[in-house]
Amino acid sequence: MEIRKARVQGFCFGVAITVKKAEEAIASRNDVTTLGHVVHNPQMVTSLQERGLKNAQSVDDVDAGALFVRAHGLPVEVFETAKSKGLEIIDATCPMVTKIHVQAEKLKADGYKIAVVGDPNHPEVKGTLSHVPGAWCIETVDDVAKLPRASRVGVVVQSTYSRERFMDIVRAMSARYYEVRAVNTICTDTNNRQTEAITLAKQVDVMVVVGGKTSANTKHLAELAEMQGAKAYHIEGPDELQAEWFDGVKIAGLMSGASTPGWLVDAVEKKMESFAPVLV
Ligand code: SF4
Repeated sequence: MEIRKARVQGFCFGVAITVKKAEEAIASRNDVTTLGHVVHNPQMVTSLQERGLKNAQSVDDVDAGALFVRAHGLPVEVFETAKSKGLEIIDATCPMVTKIHVQAEKLKADGYKIAVVGDPNHPEVKGTLSHVPGAWCIETVDDVAKLPRASRVGVVVQSTYSRERFMDIVRAMSARYYEVRAVNTICTDTNNRQTEAITLAKQVDVMVVVGGKTSANTKHLAELAEMQGAKAYHIEGPDELQAEWFDGVKIAGLMSGASTPGWLVDAVEKKMESFAPVLV
């Protein structure tokens, strides 16, 4: 069996910066708390916790020390509460996420009704919505028909959203509103991985996508591979691989989500190789 690996593997630059900042913070102090998991990757989360990173569900549960802001960012109100409690803030919000906040605020200042495309329960989307109070959140193209009336609508999108679905939503909105100004804020890394998922999936029988089960961008990659006709398996690590997935398979693809460390992809590749000799 030949294993074809996507060119883009391992952490995206935003997650790499976040992990580096978290590692630096916990190396020098033992009072750093993050809200939710720093990255959508259970192995990395455990490693950081073992080295002293604390975890809380709400800023209300953090009374001292430093609040670590992960790549997704945090809602404006949480920053304000943290400041009012005297917490130090270590802000590792990904610059691409900050750019979405800035674009949404600019559109609002220009008089557009704001629509944020994405999962309303995703922390990044919650953060973006907090920057433009009163904005609509659109999760799927079916939501467009249910939106209230408006004339000028400004649209931004979750950094890891599916490119095709975003285009469908923008098309549906353009048919409904007089003016739609859409800024494609899907980040470069997500764009590159989605393009590679499509290209690679056309060449393989089976695609293995490595990433946390809660990772939106990893889920989209697996969906994209399936849409190209490849059988896709979304796994968190090598232990989930099953030999029978590769029965009769000549070429298997391997790619990862933005929050998957490179060493984990290598471990998955090694286990895949053990199922069948690699053809050179
Ligand atoms: S996926 Fe994109 S927006 Fe999210 S952390 Fe990575 S580079 Fe930043």
